[in-house]
Amino acid sequence: MIHLKNAKQIAAMRDAGRITGEALLVARDMVRPGVSTYEIDLAIRRHIEKCGATPTFLGYGGFPASACISVNDEVIHGIPSKERILQEGDVVKIDTGATYHGYVGDSARTLPVGKVSATAEKLIEVTRSSFWAGVNALQIGNRLGDVGAAIDAVVRENGFSTVRRYVGHGIGTDMHESPDVPNYGTPGRGIRLCAGMTLAIEPMVNVGTFEVTELSDGWTVKTSDGQLSAHYENTVALTDNGVLILTEVEKGF
Ligand code: MG
Ligand code: MG
Repeated sequence: MIHLKNAKQIAAMRDAGRITGEALLVARDMVRPGVSTYEIDLAIRRHIEKCGATPTFLGYGGFPASACISVNDEVIHGIPSKERILQEGDVVKIDTGATYHGYVGDSARTLPVGKVSATAEKLIEVTRSSFWAGVNALQIGNRLGDVGAAIDAVVRENGFSTVRRYVGHGIGTDMHESPDVPNYGTPGRGIRLCAGMTLAIEPMVNVGTFEVTELSDGWTVKTSDGQLSAHYENTVALTDNGVLILTEVEKGF
């Protein structure tokens, strides 16, 4: 069952989204060679708590940190660690969430560490633009398959692959609500989109195979071929006046 949100509920989600987006700006400003993923996670947690919110990820399903920080061939769910020191040329994905007044924001970005390869730069940009293609298809009367198809088309046109095992999701008072939001699909298929839907749209894009493998730590998901992966996520709301990007606090990021 899909929980549609009214204007008041969407306004509350905007607050949670803003805090989440700000936490990612804090993280962005820390990303450089020599910093540990633990330090970035701690700064994210401090920002969220300073805002009077709760880090949604901390303890979620037993997850031990406030952000998932995944490097290079790690796709999602990387566990921050004092031993994981970012190196020049790395590609780092930071995914976090904040709960505020009962509502959740969920957002992720992929950042270059210093100078990265041309392939890495292209991957980051294509992943971001695939998200926006999905948003363009998020229109009242369209279907969910239109969104996934639009995302996947951008990925394929650029010679990359879309992760299929993990998908976006509805979001509201729970981080994961109905429906699933795949980053692939068939135009004209799936549920019909309507005002009041709040979704986390989050393409995960690989340079090589779309296949992924979960590590024995029970969390970290890597590409099966060891090639790079990128992730871009915002919490969005579909309204009668169009799409609101609830976790966006700085245009172009
Ligand atoms: Mg997320
Ligand atoms: Mg999500």
